Amino acid sequence: MLVKLHQDGRKTDQFSIAIEQRPSKVRLEQSGDDIFLDWNSTVDDSGRLRACVLCRGDVFRERTFPQITAIVIVLAFAGGVAGLLGLVTTWLMLIAMISVLLIDIIILIFSFNRLVCYKCETRYSKLTIAPYHQKWDLDRSKQVQRVS
Ligand SMILES: [Zn+2]
Repeated sequence: MLVKLHQDGRKTDQFSIAIEQRPSKVRLEQSGDDIFLDWNSTVDDSGRLRACVLCRGDVFRERTFPQITAIVIVLAFAGGVAGLLGLVTTWLMLIAMISVLLIDIIILIFSFNRLVCYKCETRYSKLTIAPYHQKWDLDRSKQVQRVS
């Protein structure tokens, strides 16, 4: 799995490990610092990640989309407005709409799920995500902030 460390919403460093090997110590790719991982009660019986291996905090499931999503929304909006104003012919409009739809499908294919830690914002991707992980929850987030 790929582990990305975050601080104040920005990625600070990363490392990738095989979850089956459960290394107790890893070296960060950029800074070269060693950090220790906690595998005790952070992995479930099926070997899937249950909690954050850095701080043992709760994790939530998040779906990521490629950067082009915003462009597609703008394109679709522009296309709609142009169509309403009668600026483009019907067949041109149709081609534009089909292109937007195709890009949409590509985005869906390339989007993926990842796990994010409530406490330290560490992101876990390229791993099997257990179905019991919930999406981000405001109450849970507040609860975690109070405890820490
Ligand atoms: Zn954490």
